[in-house]
Amino acid sequence: MKPIIIIGAGMAGYTVAREFRKLDKTSALIVITGDSGGSYAKPMLSNAIAQRKQAAQLVNQSATQMAEQLNATILPRTRVDNIDSAAKTVTTSAGTFDYEKLVLAVGAQAIRLTIAGDAAQDVLSVNHVDDYAIFRDKISSPEGQPAAHVTILGAGLIGCEFADDLAGGGHAVTLIDPSLLPLAALAAPALSTGLKSALENRGVKLELGTTAASIDHDGARLKVTLANGASFHTDLVLSAVGLRPDLRLAQAAQLTCARGIVIDTFGQTSATDVFALGDCAEYTLPDNGGSQPMPYIAPLMSAARAIARTMTGEPTAIDLKPAPVIVKTPSFPLALLPPPINVAKTGSWHAQEDGAKIICRYYDEQGLMCGFGVAPQDAASRQLLIAELGSLR
Ligand SMILES: Cc1cc2nc3c(=O)[nH]c(=O)nc-3n(C[C@H](O)[C@H](O)[C@H](O)COP(=O)(O)OP(=O)(O)OC[C@H]3O[C@@H](n4cnc5c(N)ncnc54)[C@H](O)[C@@H]3O)c2cc1C
Repeated sequence: MKPIIIIGAGMAGYTVAREFRKLDKTSALIVITGDSGGSYAKPMLSNAIAQRKQAAQLVNQSATQMAEQLNATILPRTRVDNIDSAAKTVTTSAGTFDYEKLVLAVGAQAIRLTIAGDAAQDVLSVNHVDDYAIFRDKISSPEGQPAAHVTILGAGLIGCEFADDLAGGGHAVTLIDPSLLPLAALAAPALSTGLKSALENRGVKLELGTTAASIDHDGARLKVTLANGASFHTDLVLSAVGLRPDLRLAQAAQLTCARGIVIDTFGQTSATDVFALGDCAEYTLPDNGGSQPMPYIAPLMSAARAIARTMTGEPTAIDLKPAPVIVKTPSFPLALLPPPINVAKTGSWHAQEDGAKIICRYYDEQGLMCGFGVAPQDAASRQLLIAELGSLR
């Protein structure tokens, strides 16, 4: 029998490999990855500066340890260049391999903004532990020197987490976003306002309602000029403006793609025996809820369990039960369950204050609750709000 091949050694690739091995101890399993194949929890990346963690401390298992644990062949530093879903082969920098079943777990790519200036190419983004290693190295200053000033583009989930983390690690931080509040696309205004105050109290300078127009070298530092005409000096610019599912292999193989690689409720792509999950995938929601990328851990865990079962002969639908995202901003602990994309613009947020707690519920046009946010968050309030959700989710 030909092997099961998984492309990608991020949380999606390794989770589906683990789930598969729980059900099938012996079939050949190959994980092919362009990186070193070390296993790490990506959410740690935006929480590690304040804890003074080195990149190597975030990697919990090497590729060799993973190969042993999974009874699998891991091919690190190997790029998949092509998939032939009719011949059931993948072509890689290490040769061509036949597969019985194929799983795409190729993640997403950081979106790069077009910005003027001779330092625009120096903007970093952190979407991998290797990116974190470079970032941490660049912001480390010699003993006795002031900590580097970091400018962050984008006050979404990742940008706010990095801002809070860097401030906690002693860095001066400027956070820039075209919206008038942080987390504007995901959270209710009452929660965004609370987060804004908490970040400001932490010392983060927010430049809202504007964008970085240009970034230039100026001596040993960088000069950021905003679209509103203001300018300031910084040591490093980190982009956190979003990720785009990596569709390159899937499109070349003519798999159906929308914003992500479209998968059905079983995790299968438009090609027989080819599955996808994680940041590259566009999940089909139950009850005709449409489809959307879900670039978070909870959906990839459910998808990994279902795909592993389906691949071992027990067709299993992905259970996309509501799982709030816990925003790792310790100065304003927040949990969010944003409304599904197809209703996100048609309904409205309703805020309620309960002592120090702010609870926000999102209702669609029919008055059905289909999203929420709460701060400060805890397990009990998350559970209560999940129980309140309507059947739309
Ligand atoms: C800073 C940060 C913080 C986050 N915090 C949270 C959080 O708190 N909660 C939460 O739910 N989510 C969080 N997320 C999102 C979550 O971490 C991701 O959804 C998840 O890790 C994606 O995993 P993945 O395996 O799909 O992608 P990736 O981790 O990007 O893995 C992709 C893999 O594919 C490989 N690959 C790609 N193309 C090829 C090719 N052609 N050939 C070979 N290999 C290839 C890469 O080498 C890599 O191994 C965070 C994300 C970031 C960036």
